Amino acid sequence: PSAWLLGAQALREWQALLGPRGHASHKGSWGDVLVIGGAPGMRGAAQLASQAALAAGAGRVYVGLLEAKTDSPLGRPELMHWHEAQLAEPASWAQHTVVAGCGGALLMARVLPQLLAHASRLVLDADALNALAAEADLRSLLRARAAQGLATVLTPHPLEAARLLGSCSQEVQADRLGAAQALAMDLACCVVLKGSGSVIASPGSVCAINSSGNGRLASAGTGDVLAGWLGGLWAQLPPQLPHKHPQHEALHTLACAAVYWHGAAASGAEGGPLRAAELIERMLRLHPQVPD
Ligand code: AMP
Ligand code: MG
Repeated sequence: PSAWLLGAQALREWQALLGPRGHASHKGSWGDVLVIGGAPGMRGAAQLASQAALAAGAGRVYVGLLEAKTDSPLGRPELMHWHEAQLAEPASWAQHTVVAGCGGALLMARVLPQLLAHASRLVLDADALNALAAEADLRSLLRARAAQGLATVLTPHPLEAARLLGSCSQEVQADRLGAAQALAMDLACCVVLKGSGSVIASPGSVCAINSSGNGRLASAGTGDVLAGWLGGLWAQLPPQLPHKHPQHEALHTLACAAVYWHGAAASGAEGGPLRAAELIERMLRLHPQVPD
């Protein structure tokens, strides 16, 4: 398959799609994100994803920590708690952009059927991908989403991609483009295959290979930052785009922007490995979106 090399134009394309941050806009203009994950022992993954969604520019960010007995601190006062019982009322959250799986452990399989059935915009990472790989029924629900016009982004690293493909990470790494495209076609999703030279593949779009980033990103939590940032950008996209721009193309464009942005924040970094929380701050400083 052919592909194009993703460079700084990815941010300009995203900026053109979204337009300026209007003078009269308010938090309701920039969408809601719901992060679901952070099972006991992995709360930090959901914290990083939600902080990234906020920094990317989402209007409001809610965090649903799995099996949380109390409202524990989320690391930023802007973030709001969400409770699993609210899953039973999809009308209250189905329009949010849902980012699921960052630190979800085995608890993810329990909530995924509801999310797959109702979330209008869904980003699946880490333990949500592992749950999909383990259960064919969940993969059927995922394919059914696309048939209903509900869009999904998957953000596997090579091992997660291998589990979904029933292969091994060496095989995925030997043909990254082919693996990303195979997953995108099979599951009818936009797929970001992470790692050096991340590949973005969507049904009906030309694949992109990212040129930004380096080994400083090889540290815990940077994948959670990407998933949250992607959700934060997606939430800002209005349901009706100007010039009848198709939503699936817009989704591919924003996935490319999120991946390039994430890498660019590391490309300019000096010194050793980046801590994921520091990566969010660096990404925030690269924001191309200007107020009008
Ligand atoms: P995860 O594997 O889920 O923790 O995600 C790690 C993130 O860091 C992904 O977005 C990877 O693409 C990125 N990353 C890790 N190592 C590298 C590398 N050597 N070069 C570029 N990006 C990397
Ligand atoms: Mg990860």
